[in-house]
Amino acid sequence: MSVATGRSYLAIPGPSVLPERVLNAMHRAAPNIYEGALIDMTQGLVRDLKHLAGTRHEVAIYVANGHAAWEAAVSNVLAPGDRVLVLATGVFASDWGAMATAIGAQVEVMDFGKRAPIDATQVAKRLEQDPSHQIKAVMCVHVDTGTSVRNDIPALRAALDGAGHPALLMVDCIASMGCEEYRMDDWGVDITVTASQKGLMTPPGLGFVWFNQKAAQRRQAMAQVSRYWDWAPRTAPRIFSHYWNGTAPTHHLFALREALDMIAEEGLNAVWRRHEILARTYWAACEAWQMPGGIALNIADPNARSHAVTALSCAPPDASRLRAWCQTHTGVTLGIGLGMADEAEPAWHGHFRIGHMGHLNAHMVMGVIGVIDAGLKALAIPHGRGATEAASASLASELS
Ligand SMILES: *Cc1c(COP(=O)(O)O)cnc(C)c1O
Repeated sequence: MSVATGRSYLAIPGPSVLPERVLNAMHRAAPNIYEGALIDMTQGLVRDLKHLAGTRHEVAIYVANGHAAWEAAVSNVLAPGDRVLVLATGVFASDWGAMATAIGAQVEVMDFGKRAPIDATQVAKRLEQDPSHQIKAVMCVHVDTGTSVRNDIPALRAALDGAGHPALLMVDCIASMGCEEYRMDDWGVDITVTASQKGLMTPPGLGFVWFNQKAAQRRQAMAQVSRYWDWAPRTAPRIFSHYWNGTAPTHHLFALREALDMIAEEGLNAVWRRHEILARTYWAACEAWQMPGGIALNIADPNARSHAVTALSCAPPDASRLRAWCQTHTGVTLGIGLGMADEAEPAWHGHFRIGHMGHLNAHMVMGVIGVIDAGLKALAIPHGRGATEAASASLASELS
């Protein structure tokens, strides 16, 4: 017997829930790409995207997913032979580093494991050992979507400054943009990368690279940059098609316009705060479920946990059983584990993730918590009691 009929909920860490408003914004005939609404709208998109990332500098938009935005970022500032320092806190920074390797950069990985954020002190020490400034860029993620760790970007900036090191600071905000507080200019980030399908509530297919003056100068000094990824014409377009290096991603742009309007109506600070409150609601439930040999939060320190995604582990194959149960019986889809494979089992048998990015509110979160709680009971998966009570108490205290 299933009680899944009704509105289903894809609670994975991207793509995230598409708001009706965003879906409806795309429901229109193909627009003219030479004049009219699309052209009139684009400058406003650029302005609002800069506001979103907290920068007054530049943003290039690509018809691309996150991996492509990664490649765009490295292609503009790294030449074959350049050294880069990749700060790994899960799979995503290393995968970004692999993009740099593929274009000929010399990648050095500092690995902080899968359960902790970047240790800025160690980074400072490493940079101090590079007095001739061979390292051209430091690359990391703000939130690692696999481990659900959130890195302290201002601390990293302080590490670079403390070491007096001029490397570019490049940050992947694909999981965190529009979910977590982020202030590119105030935090001294040189390059920020994101994609449309997570906090930005837009279908996968748009990639964004924000860059400041220092990064632009690096681009200018490059002997060559791939024509398609080159951000220079995209940010100083003489004609509309230069923004996109070809046909505009028409319907994605209407979707993005609506999503940015929704963020503006709620207010960016309120959006961040909502994600924080809802993340705390999840953590309260997860902390109640935790028990030795059973469910465990991947990141123990709440200050290092993402507000956009939560990674959990349990004895394999209980994660797969739970996900299957939730999907079949309740219409809730949870995320598989990603990059946590340190056992022989497929990673996801002992790991799962809950996405809480973008278009979500308290009843969606309380619903997922109730469903997981029921699944743990139905499947006799070892877990602590009182999760729904703890979650509602957390929510009540945050909102009172
Ligand atoms: C989702 C994600 C990516 C990859 O984005 P794609 O659109 O799947 O290529 C990269 N980094 C982080 C932190 C992500 O969350």
